[in-house]
Amino acid sequence: MSKQIILCVDDEVMILNALKAELKNIFLGDYLIEVTESGQDALDLIDELQASNYAIPLVISDYLMPEMKGDEVLQRIHQKLPNAIKIMLTGHATIEGVANAIKYAMLYRYIAKPWHHADFKLTVTEALHKYLQDQNIAQKNAALTELNLQQAELIKQLHKKELHLQQLNERLQAALTAELKLKELSVEQQETNRQLMALSTTDALTNIPNRRRFDEFLALEWQRVLCEGQSIALAMLDVDFFKKYNDHYGHQAGDECLRKIAAVLKETISNEDHLVARYGGEEFAFLCPSTSLEIVLSLAKNICENVENLNLEHELSTLKTVTVSIGVAIVSPNPQQKSATLVKSADDALYLAKSQGRNQVVLA
Ligand SMILES: [Mg+2]
Repeated sequence: MSKQIILCVDDEVMILNALKAELKNIFLGDYLIEVTESGQDALDLIDELQASNYAIPLVISDYLMPEMKGDEVLQRIHQKLPNAIKIMLTGHATIEGVANAIKYAMLYRYIAKPWHHADFKLTVTEALHKYLQDQNIAQKNAALTELNLQQAELIKQLHKKELHLQQLNERLQAALTAELKLKELSVEQQETNRQLMALSTTDALTNIPNRRRFDEFLALEWQRVLCEGQSIALAMLDVDFFKKYNDHYGHQAGDECLRKIAAVLKETISNEDHLVARYGGEEFAFLCPSTSLEIVLSLAKNICENVENLNLEHELSTLKTVTVSIGVAIVSPNPQQKSATLVKSADDALYLAKSQGRNQVVLA
């Protein structure tokens, strides 16, 4: 950094020399001392010095000068050097002149001529000290302003990021909600499918499995027992004189009768591995895979008895009550056999049970 300059303005060369000598003595070469004999020269010199990037922290000006008085000189210098400290040095200043300098040039001190050396030294030393302090404060203020700007920018970026994060969060929340909804829909769909499946394999009148379910179960179990070398038993069941029952008591009573028989079947055949189904019309069936013949026959006899014990009046039956006939067939299938043969055997046995007087179980 180049040396700083103290500028002195006075129309008397003697005074200028004295000032120069005294200032050099005070600052011992820390500052360059420039002098001019008029206000205009001072202004021109300031322009030159500023163009060469010199700093001018202190200006000392006389008041009484022929062309431009000290208050005007300082006022015009103040326009060029607002931060420089200005001191007025004269024995003939008017109050108005000093007041102007204070008002328009931020006059720092007024020193009377002839000056007291100690007072002069103290004044210029303090003036330069003040200048340095002001510069320091200005630099700190500038740094603080810069910091504030940076902080404001950081806060702005932070808000931007927060907003972005919030948007991301909202999108995530929406995606999660959509996924959850999808899962709920999927569960609902599965339940609907299950209900539809159950409906499609359930007999609407009796609420037990229908013929479709019977066929599926038979096909599946037939393959299983074939693979495992086990047996499968089928009982075909027919309501005795059901056509006459319907004709005599009406179709609504006939339906009710079928519902009661289905209920007996469901209660009697409680093993989950067995299947009870409405085969068609007044025909029912039950399938017992991997079950001994003894148990199957016992179940069939129980059904006959339990239906008879319902004591449903049937005037047109020889037995005067609703009964059922049951044909039972059992087979350990070989690969050449079809499940239809089992159905045929059970049907034949059912025909026999009918022809032998009904309300009985016949084994094929
Ligand atoms: Mg003078």
